[in-house]
Amino acid sequence: MAGQDTRIAIVGGGMGGLTAAIALRKIAGVQATVFEQAGKLGEVGAGVTVAPNAARVLERLGVLDRIRRVGAVPDGHGVYLNAMGGLVTDAAWEDSAKQHQNIGMYRPDLIDALAQEVDPATIRLGHRLVSVQTLGSGVRLEFENGADDVFDAVIGADGIHSVVRGAVGQFPEPVYSGYIVYRGVVDASRLPGDWRMISQVWMGNRRHFMCYPLQQRKLFNFVAGIPSDRPLRGAWSGPAEVRELAAEFAGPDWDPKLQEFIGCIEHTFWWGLFDHEPLANWSRGPITLLGDAAHTMLPHQGQGVNQAIEDSMALATFLAAAESVADIPEAFRRYTSVRMQRTAILQNGSRRAGAMFDAQHEFADLKKRDADLRVGRDFRRSAVFDYDAQKVAEQALNRFQGVPVA
Ligand SMILES: Cc1cc2nc3c(=O)[nH]c(=O)nc-3n(C[C@H](O)[C@H](O)[C@H](O)COP(=O)(O)OP(=O)(O)OC[C@H]3O[C@@H](n4cnc5c(N)ncnc54)[C@H](O)[C@@H]3O)c2cc1C
Repeated sequence: MAGQDTRIAIVGGGMGGLTAAIALRKIAGVQATVFEQAGKLGEVGAGVTVAPNAARVLERLGVLDRIRRVGAVPDGHGVYLNAMGGLVTDAAWEDSAKQHQNIGMYRPDLIDALAQEVDPATIRLGHRLVSVQTLGSGVRLEFENGADDVFDAVIGADGIHSVVRGAVGQFPEPVYSGYIVYRGVVDASRLPGDWRMISQVWMGNRRHFMCYPLQQRKLFNFVAGIPSDRPLRGAWSGPAEVRELAAEFAGPDWDPKLQEFIGCIEHTFWWGLFDHEPLANWSRGPITLLGDAAHTMLPHQGQGVNQAIEDSMALATFLAAAESVADIPEAFRRYTSVRMQRTAILQNGSRRAGAMFDAQHEFADLKKRDADLRVGRDFRRSAVFDYDAQKVAEQALNRFQGVPVA
């Protein structure tokens, strides 16, 4: 982008905001300023999967080697199992070219790996955004600590409760899924020596339990989805007792191997699962959205962060083609038109995946559910994992610019 002195603010120093800062610098040549409300960068002590579609982006941004070094690549494809541990189907775990596999990441390690690529002088901690005001020229941001500043453009990467989202005229209602998850990590040394180094999902009795390795296989992540109305009565997350979780998968109808895993858990916390309907717009003039602020989705396809990483690459690609600050609104408009379609499909697909895991609605007939799960594996590989966010943005750019596509 012409003009190295262009002033862009990214609100939110989570996985999306940090990736956007890296992509803007490396692809668009813009040094953005990141504003984070917390006193230090961090994440909850749980896992996240970096999928092949995001690994492809991170490789081009030069951070994939570091991420692979601290993450865990499984031994092979994952499995969906019934409650007693019988195989329902194998799961997609790599792209069609077999170049990128799922990488299990301990969230604090992923934040660290991304933060190492962002100049600390460009990160403002303890800055909670309270208001956004579009001026004749530029955007004014005000923070709870009394600070304020004016930028040429603003990217809202401030998560599900985004403040920036209001400045683009979007006020979605959070939609509760009817499910909470118990989350956490297990020290792998506590597990049986022959525990499989892959992702496993047990499904039964309207609930499911997933686990996969993290941190060079020293940790195992777990996520257990349980029907509950708890978030409707107060907080959306909180500490939990391991015995509450164990009781949900107790008895002779559940695989003893799963019960053995649960017996190794020392700590857990619960988290309500919310999303929102796809937004009608993400950008207004020099303001746009990215990550959960733009497209909060349920975690059942493991794509929330991965989509934020795709967003970052697409946004930087469109910004790289902007010749001056005056072109930024058009770059944001193009970014929105390309990314909204992709993420709306995944928001919907994530709800559907949850309904499959928990045999809800049309998936109550398990024979049909299992058939859909098997078919879903191939869709996931080709439509989700093979997607090349940079290539798609470049092709779209050619069309926007009227250049014939070869
Ligand atoms: C159980 C579970 C499992 C999941 N598993 C996966 C998975 O395997 N793969 C995957 O891709 N996704 C997964 N996700 C989804 C993923 O966690 C989210 O999509 C991701 O965290 C979104 O990143 P983000 O940076 O957009 O937002 P966030 O992570 O919410 O970060 C937003 C940042 O903005 C800051 N902020 C908020 N408001 C303000 C403000 N007013 N001023 C300044 N700063 C502010 C916050 O402090 C935070 O640091 C899962 C989610 C859950 C609940």
